[in-house]
Amino acid sequence: MPIGRPKKTKKTRKLKRAAIAVRAPVKRGKLPVSEIGATVRMRAEAAAAIAQARTSHERLRQAIDILPQGIVFLDADGRYILWNKKYSEIYSRSSDLFEPGARLQDTIRIGVERGDYPEAIGREEAWIAERLTRLYQPGERHEQVLADGRCILIEERLTEDGGVIGLRVDITELKQREASFRLLFDSNPVPMIVCALDDERILGVNDAAIAHYGYSRAEFEKLTIGNVQAFDSQPPWAGDHSSDELTARTWKHVRADGALIDLAIYSRQLVYGDRPAVLLSLMDITERKRAEARLAFMAQHDGLTGLPNRGLLRQEIDEMLQHTRRSSDKMAVLMLGLDNFKAVNDTLGHGVGDKLLRSVAKRLRSTLREQDTLARLNSDEFAIIQSGLARPEDAVLLARRLLEAIGEPYLLDGHSVVIGASIGIAMAPGDGEESEKLLKHADMALSRAKNDSRGTFSFFESGMDARAQGRRKIEIDLRDAIQSEVLRPYYQPLIDLSSGRITGFEALVRWPHPERGMVSPAEFIPVAEETGLINALGGLMLRRACMDAVLWPDDVRVAVNLSPLQFRAGNLLSVVMEALKQSGLPAKRLELEITETLLLEKSSQVLATLHALRALGVRISMDDFGTGYSSLSYLRSFPFDKIKIDQSFVRGLGTNNDAQAIVRAIISLGVGLGVTITAEGVETEAELACLRSEGCHEGQGFLFSHARPNAEIVAMLTAQRGIDGGALTAVAKAARVA
Ligand code: C2E
Ligand code: MG
Ligand code: MG
Repeated sequence: MPIGRPKKTKKTRKLKRAAIAVRAPVKRGKLPVSEIGATVRMRAEAAAAIAQARTSHERLRQAIDILPQGIVFLDADGRYILWNKKYSEIYSRSSDLFEPGARLQDTIRIGVERGDYPEAIGREEAWIAERLTRLYQPGERHEQVLADGRCILIEERLTEDGGVIGLRVDITELKQREASFRLLFDSNPVPMIVCALDDERILGVNDAAIAHYGYSRAEFEKLTIGNVQAFDSQPPWAGDHSSDELTARTWKHVRADGALIDLAIYSRQLVYGDRPAVLLSLMDITERKRAEARLAFMAQHDGLTGLPNRGLLRQEIDEMLQHTRRSSDKMAVLMLGLDNFKAVNDTLGHGVGDKLLRSVAKRLRSTLREQDTLARLNSDEFAIIQSGLARPEDAVLLARRLLEAIGEPYLLDGHSVVIGASIGIAMAPGDGEESEKLLKHADMALSRAKNDSRGTFSFFESGMDARAQGRRKIEIDLRDAIQSEVLRPYYQPLIDLSSGRITGFEALVRWPHPERGMVSPAEFIPVAEETGLINALGGLMLRRACMDAVLWPDDVRVAVNLSPLQFRAGNLLSVVMEALKQSGLPAKRLELEITETLLLEKSSQVLATLHALRALGVRISMDDFGTGYSSLSYLRSFPFDKIKIDQSFVRGLGTNNDAQAIVRAIISLGVGLGVTITAEGVETEAELACLRSEGCHEGQGFLFSHARPNAEIVAMLTAQRGIDGGALTAVAKAARVA
């Protein structure tokens, strides 16, 4: 163990002298016997005291050995008296030099010569002199670097007898950490400031902070944090002194270059040197804030028009409803749907469609008061919250104004575009206590307005809800009926008016409902169209009609109705081809009936499909001719094989001269175009006679037959073929009999 000899203290020296004085006269035999006893006692006492001193010394050695710091005791001459294990470990390179009585200054000199102290290299004498001066400066602390890179903190204190107690702490790790912190601090692109926690003086700043604030380092260090702009009088960690957690605040702040930014300041307590301090990191979060604001806006607004979207509208309705509950005011939710917006998109392109929507939004906005909310719900639907109403009539006035404003022509990319709208209105209190319900009811009222006649408005009525539920039930049952093929075609004959022969049958869908009996297609076709079930329904009808017709005589055709939505599905051509192939029915025996609404869209896809179908050999008929807005112009867009005059023009023929004039015109038009003309809804002999006299080619109607199930068709054909060329009435009778 590298431990020195026990130090001779005053007490031990005195005791030893006494022991020697006692021992001497006894040896010489001059001492009286009475004194001998006392001398022996004193010797024993001295020996005990020495033993005790040794024990204390030993204990002291053991105690200092377990200390984590190095400790050394030097006497007044700077000679080693005692040192502990850690001290020898720290100075392991020069531990061979320590021995009791050796002088520190000598060991230091030898160490310097051997290169134990890199800081001394080149200025050895000066270094040694400085080192020794420090030795006797009480309380002085300094650091020392050793040859292997370790850093030792040295603290030395004078003892009462002029000696020195020296403490050595290995602070290598601490120094390394400090160095990495410095590096992180100095070269960090984030501006950082360290300031004292007590007097808030700035203790350090990094380059980024200098650039950020435009103060020099020297200027900075004269400031307290309160003087630095943006922190105002309140330090950024105010109220958080106790925490050393990372805490963040955000501030609006003008940077040195004048830019207004959002600043997040993270603060964390630390000890800087030996002062409790706070490290502030300043993050410019302007972009993040902007992006957050943008996202928040986008989440609540429509990208095209910048109007609130459904989510925000709902929030606003709910807020307004709360207000309504507290006051006697009423509010209205107006749901506005554009009529035939899709046609604009399809014919003039999406660019014009988008411009139209923006213009509509603008007109609506300018028709409303500041406090009314306007939102866009989906492609062609807008909603308005009208607040502070006294009576429902106020909503009527607004609806009228809105419809009028929208109806004015728009000039878009050189096109003059006219678009109409319909409005559904729900009122609160009354039609719903929360936004979802009010919107749903306004939507139902809108559907009603659209169905009644476009370009109008309609109020929600309580019965609408029940009707909507009824539709929902139809939808569920219909899905089942299509899947189980309960839904099936009935056939109504088409009669050649000159020969009286059956030329074909129109397949009309029939739904024998287990509870409701035969449900009319007028009731469920619109539901099928709304729910997309129309594609399955149409496919089923095509397959069944072709399968049935293939068993009829070769010259008898079958006509199948198509919904415009089947064209949008995009696979109509292959569905038709598949039905023909599966059944083996020649294409020329299939007729497809389309309505004018399909051509309203004028899309190139629709026309291409029609041409492709015709190229297969399938015949194309225009159904319900005359009911659309510009039936005549549609005749130019596609070469139809047949025109079916709508039954509204046939009704009253023979008695109503106007109807007869219209029918005559249509027939001569058809003859001119080389197209077959069929009259729908022939119910009376008079109508039939008139149609014949006008030269109409074909007729269809209850006068001949209602639609019948396939099982009865064969019988009907047999009866008719048996008569073969007989009078028309006879055919009609035969058909009715069958
Ligand atoms: P539509 O294609 O014009 O069919 C003629 C409608 O007039 C049929 O009504 C028929 O029963 C009825 N009708 C025939 N003769 C007379 C008559 O003398 N007097 C009167 N008042 N009515 C007569 P239905 O079967 O109720 O069908 C109505 C509409 O439903 C059809 O009109 C057609 O547009 C549609 N529809 C029927 N079946 C289908 C189908 O399979 N697919 C599609 N997409 N629509 C269908
Ligand atoms: Mg039809
Ligand atoms: Mg028709």
